[in-house]
Amino acid sequence: MARHLVCLTYDFDAVSVNNGQATTSLAPGLASWSSYYGLDRILSMLDRERVRGTFFAAGPILSQHADTARALVGDGHEIGHHGWDHRRPNNTDRRAEEEDLLRGMEVIDTLTGRRPSGYRSPSWGHSPHTVDLLLANGFVYDSSLMGHDHRPYRARVSGGNPSMTTDVYGAPTDLIEMPVNWSIDDYTRNEWAALPGGLATLGFKISRDLLRGWQEDYETMADSEQWGVVVYTFHPFVSGQGKRMLAMERLIRYLRDNGADFVTMSEAAREAGAHIDPIC
Ligand SMILES: [Zn+2]
Repeated sequence: MARHLVCLTYDFDAVSVNNGQATTSLAPGLASWSSYYGLDRILSMLDRERVRGTFFAAGPILSQHADTARALVGDGHEIGHHGWDHRRPNNTDRRAEEEDLLRGMEVIDTLTGRRPSGYRSPSWGHSPHTVDLLLANGFVYDSSLMGHDHRPYRARVSGGNPSMTTDVYGAPTDLIEMPVNWSIDDYTRNEWAALPGGLATLGFKISRDLLRGWQEDYETMADSEQWGVVVYTFHPFVSGQGKRMLAMERLIRYLRDNGADFVTMSEAAREAGAHIDPIC
C-alpha cells in the first residue's frame, strides 16, 4: 500500500538570519517582529488543522523564547538544531563547528528535556566535518542536502571530496539525510534579497502560483513513489505573513484531501530506515 509522507518544517531564524550570507540585511523588522507574530499564526493554524510540524531554531533564539519552545514540544511538535547563530559551518573550522553544535544541543536539552535528533545547517551549508560531528553526537538525521527529491538517503562522509567537484563520495553512514530543495523553500519564492556574486532571490510570487508549485511536488512524489517524503521548508517571517499564510493553509488542506500523511521529521527518518539501502 502506498504511503506518502509530508513534513512541514519551519526554520525559526528570527534575527539570527542576519548572520547569514545575504549582502543586504533584511528589511528592518522583517526577521524580528514578523517572526514572532508569524510563529503565533502558524502554531494556531497547525492546531486548527491538527497537524504537527518540525521547527529548526538557532540556540539563542530558543533561549529568548523558552516558553514558546516548551509549548511547541508540549503540542507534539519537534524541535531540531539549526546552528548556534546561523553562521554556515562551511565557513568555519571543525573545532568551532563542534562548539556551536554542542551549545545548541545543550539549549534544546535544557528547554525540552530531550536532545535533538535532527539537524539542519544554516542556509544548508555543510562543512567536510558536519556528517562526522552529527554522528559522533548521536543525531539520527540531517536535513541540509539536496541529493534526491522525494526519498531520504544515507548521508556520506566527505570522502576527501569536500568541494564536491567530482562524482566521488565517501562511505554511506547511519545518518539519514532528509533532503530539501530551494524550489520548495518559501524564502526564495517570496522574498527579495541580494546575494554574494550578484545573485538575487526575486520572490514576489502570487499565492496561486506558490500553491500550485507546492502541490506539484507532492503530485510528482505520489505518482512516482510507493513510499516517499516531501519536505517543505517555511519560515515564520515569510509564510506567517499575508497571502503566504493563506497559501500554506490551502496547501495543508489539499495535501490531506490527496492522501498525505503528516509526520514530524524524526518520525519520517525512523520510517525511512526500512525503505533505503542498508549499510553493507
Ligand atoms: Zn535558517
